Amino acid sequence: MGSIDADVIVIGGGPSGATVAAEAARGGARVIVLEKRTGDSPSRAGVIQPRVLELLDARGLMGRFRQAARDWRPDFEIPRYFYAGLTGLRYDQLDTAHPYALILPQTTTEHLLRAWAVECGAEVRRGVTYSEHLQDPEGVTVRALDGDGGTLELRGRYLVGADGARSLVRLRAGIPFEGRDSEMTAVSVDADLSFPWKASVHMHRNENGWVLAYPFGERTTRFIIVAEARRNVPRDEPVTMDEVNESLRAILGEDFGITGAKWISRYGDAHRMVPRFVEDRVALVGEATRVHYPASGIGMNYCIQDAFNLGWKLGFVAVGDAPRELLQTYHDERHPVLQDVMNDVATQCKLHFDFTSAGLELKRFFEAELVPIPEVNAILRDRLSGFRTTYHRGADPHVADGTRVRQFDLGETTYNDVAARSDFVLVEQAEVAPRDRAVNGRITRILAPGSRLTGSLSEAAAVLIRPDAYVARAWSVPPSDDEIQKAYDVSTCRGVRTEAQQVTG
Ligand SMILES: Cc1cc2nc3c(=O)[nH]c(=O)nc-3n(C[C@H](O)[C@H](O)[C@H](O)COP(=O)(O)OP(=O)(O)OC[C@H]3O[C@@H](n4cnc5c(N)ncnc54)[C@H](O)[C@@H]3O)c2cc1C
Repeated sequence: MGSIDADVIVIGGGPSGATVAAEAARGGARVIVLEKRTGDSPSRAGVIQPRVLELLDARGLMGRFRQAARDWRPDFEIPRYFYAGLTGLRYDQLDTAHPYALILPQTTTEHLLRAWAVECGAEVRRGVTYSEHLQDPEGVTVRALDGDGGTLELRGRYLVGADGARSLVRLRAGIPFEGRDSEMTAVSVDADLSFPWKASVHMHRNENGWVLAYPFGERTTRFIIVAEARRNVPRDEPVTMDEVNESLRAILGEDFGITGAKWISRYGDAHRMVPRFVEDRVALVGEATRVHYPASGIGMNYCIQDAFNLGWKLGFVAVGDAPRELLQTYHDERHPVLQDVMNDVATQCKLHFDFTSAGLELKRFFEAELVPIPEVNAILRDRLSGFRTTYHRGADPHVADGTRVRQFDLGETTYNDVAARSDFVLVEQAEVAPRDRAVNGRITRILAPGSRLTGSLSEAAAVLIRPDAYVARAWSVPPSDDEIQKAYDVSTCRGVRTEAQQVTG
C-alpha cells in the first residue's frame, strides 16, 4: 500500500464536510477535503438555529457569523420562530446567549465554515470529484477526477462521506438508504422585487396552500410556496415565473411584482435514512445519512451538529489518543437523534400540508390554543433549536450528564474562551477543589467560583465537558482523580482497544 496522504479524507465541502474537516483538523488530524464544485452551491438553508450558534460561539466564530448576517440584512435575528408553518415559538425565551434564529444564506455559511476549516489546518481541494474507494486493514484508497479529467489517487486512514443526499460514498460503501421517494413538492424562490420589501417575516395560509416570505438580501425576497394545486408536480419539472406568480396570487392575493429570480428550486419530501453512520473506516455525515422535507429550517443545522460530534472523535482517533471504537459512538449518539428528527419532520408535514377545512381548523387550534402554552412552546422550540439533544448517561448520573453546555462565566474567563482553545474542559468549584490533579488526557482544568456554575450545573462540584460542548460527567461532590480519569476514558473509549487495532492503529 502507498504512503498515507491524510488521516482523514472528506468528500464534500458543504456545511457538513467543512465542519467535520475543521473539527478533525483542530483535534490533530491531517485532513484533505475533496469538493467537486469550483463555484458556490445554491443558497438553500436560510437560517442557523440556536444550538449551532452556541457551537460556533464555542469556537470563537460568532463574531464573523453575526457580521456576515448584519451585512446581509440589519434585522438578522428572528426571535419568534415557527413550527410546521405555524407562528409563535418564543425563541426569545430560550436559555442561551443566542435566543434567536440567525438569517444567513447557506452560501455564506459554507464560505465561513470552509475558511475556518483551512484555518484549522485542513486542505480543501476544489474541482476534484470522488469516484470510488477501496478499504483495507490499514486505510482507504480514494480515486477521484481532477478538473482536467485526470485521475487522482489518495490514501487516507479514514474516509468521510459528506457528499450530500445523493452520496456516492454511501453507494460505494454499500450502505442502504432506506425509506421512500417524494410524495409531494414545493417551490423555493429568491425573487427580485420591483420595490424593497420591508416586512421581516410574513406567513400566510388558506385552502390554496401556504407561503413563507422574508427579505433575503438587497431587493430580494425568499418565498417558500406550498401550493395545493401544484403539490403533485414532479420534482424535475422546471418552475416558471408564471407558476410562482399564480401560486402567490392564490395564497396571498397578490404577486409582489416579481421581476426575476436569483434562485428557483422545486424540492420534494423524500424521506430516507441510512441504518448505520459508520462502516469500518468510512463514516457518513450530514445529508449523506438522511434526506427529509426541509421543515422549519432545521436540515443543515442537524447536519452541522452531526459534524461537531464526529469531528473531534476523528481528531482523537487520528493522533492515537482514542481507539477506533470512539467513531462508533458517533453512530450510537447521533442515529437516535436523527431518527427523532425524521419522525418530527413527518409529524410537521402532516400538520402543515393539510389544507382541507378540517386541516385549517386544526392549524388554527394548534396555533391559537396550544402553541401559547409555555410548556408546549418550550417542547416545540427545543425540538427545532437542537436543545433537546442529550447523550449517553452512565449509571447513577448527575442531572447534567449528557446535556449541552452553553456559554457561562468562569470568573476570570468564560467557558467559550477556554473551549475555543481546548479539547475536554474540567471546571471545578475553586472553593472545594483539590490543588493538584493527576489525570492523563487532553483536559484543560479551570478552577472557578462555585457561584458561576448555573442551571443544571448549579449544584455541581465539578464538571468534565467534551470538546463538542456536552457534559461528559458532572459530580455533586468533588471527584477523585480516578473518577475523572474514568469519565474521560469512557468518553474517549480508552481501555476498549482490541488486539487487532493495537497493531493497525
Ligand atoms: C429548498 C431547500 C431549502 C432548505 N432550507 C433549509 C433551511 O432553511 N435550514 C436548514 O437548516 N436547512 C435547509 N435545507 C437543507 C440544507 O440545504 C441541507 O441540509 C444541507 O445542504 C446539507 O449539507 P451537507 O453538507 O450534508 O450536504 P450538501 O450541502 O449537499 O453538500 C455536499 C457537498 O458535496 C459535494 N459533492 C457531492 N458529490 C461529490 C463528489 N462525488 N466528489 C466531491 N464532492 C462532491 C457537493 O458539491 C456539495 O458541496 C434546505 C434544503 C432545500 C433543498
